[in-house]
Amino acid sequence: MAVLVLRNAKVLDVAGGQLIAGRDVVVEGGRITAVHDSQPAVSDAEVIDVGGLTVMPGLIDLHVHVTAVRMDLGSQVRMPNAFVLLRTLPILERMLMRGFTTVRDAGGAERALADAIEEGLAVGPRLFVSGRALSQTGGHGDFRARSDYLEISDACACAFRIGSVARIVDGVDAVRKAVREELQMGAHQIKIMASGGVASPTDPIDALGYSTDEIRAIVAEAVARHTYVMAHAYTPEAIIRAVECGVRTIEHGNLVDAEAAGVMAKNGAFAVPTLVTYRALVEQGPALGLSPESVSKAHSVLQRGLQSLRILQDAGVKIGYGSDLLADAHLRQNEEFLIRSEVQTPQQVLAGATTIAAEVLRMEGQLGVVAEGAIADLLVLEGNPLESLQALSKPDESLRMIVKEGVIVKRNGL
Ligand code: ZN
Ligand code: ZN
Repeated sequence: MAVLVLRNAKVLDVAGGQLIAGRDVVVEGGRITAVHDSQPAVSDAEVIDVGGLTVMPGLIDLHVHVTAVRMDLGSQVRMPNAFVLLRTLPILERMLMRGFTTVRDAGGAERALADAIEEGLAVGPRLFVSGRALSQTGGHGDFRARSDYLEISDACACAFRIGSVARIVDGVDAVRKAVREELQMGAHQIKIMASGGVASPTDPIDALGYSTDEIRAIVAEAVARHTYVMAHAYTPEAIIRAVECGVRTIEHGNLVDAEAAGVMAKNGAFAVPTLVTYRALVEQGPALGLSPESVSKAHSVLQRGLQSLRILQDAGVKIGYGSDLLADAHLRQNEEFLIRSEVQTPQQVLAGATTIAAEVLRMEGQLGVVAEGAIADLLVLEGNPLESLQALSKPDESLRMIVKEGVIVKRNGL
């Protein structure tokens, strides 16, 4: 097995909040086998002198939709599967090139995509998929237009169309079966819509999604397979309800208050805010086919974004990195670093995209760290991210090298 050595690196220790200079990072078989003071090379190793640049763990985005190829998610349900797949491939590749070596898909991506990437059939980040998100009728996953008649056949399209990010399922027995089906098809975790949302047409933001009986059944089925539930939720009421039913990660959470944040902290629930997407929906949505109802809903949660971050931070909730971008807005994925810098320290923001994200994925020590034994996902860049996140916000220019599981996927001037 070939050995790769990144020589003369400043290694970023996110948890310790420090850069450690003069280090070699040794990689073999996709893993980091040593991080030590620079020393003479092993005879047949490929040695790359990074000249004192920063070496940090590959980034993790905990909330993406790699199959969101259109802003109007409702319309892509009827897109031919081949079109959705072919448009998904460049989205995956560009995410990796922005430094995200691992992403958690919050609805839409199926296990085959994760496996195809692992096999080398497609280029992209390591994927943790949710299969299709679960939504009640009239919930955030129900993209049918308001009408005087519900077209049942439309709802069924979500069972086989890969452009669908969610499926509609109601009732305790039915949701149990749906969770079992998603897990049978290879979902790593289960995603539910526990409140109204922005991109969907007929559900008010403050609507609750699912009864507590349904949420408890969903959580029980996920836990029985040793995984967990992530819930889309905006209001304090929806957040508290979901967390008390056993949901482990709260997605978005823009309208959180101190009480709801306290419940999250007490129960060890994680927050995954996705602030950049509301900017994108408001600024780019109208031109990209987002409905006027959705644009107006995006406005209503955008204003509370930074405040929610402050409330979560003050309550001691662990905050992971999320972006939740759709279609052409995907290129703004790294803007979230700068938005968060308005409230969090660079170290806190970095932890969200590395160590805390690894905890959410139950991959502590494997992902999100440059340490012996970890999977070799590495970025080489100029500057000190603990002082400024500007470089990470411009990955095309700043990332000099990207290594995913020991394989160099980008190399620029090194
Ligand atoms: Zn959502
Ligand atoms: Zn989402």
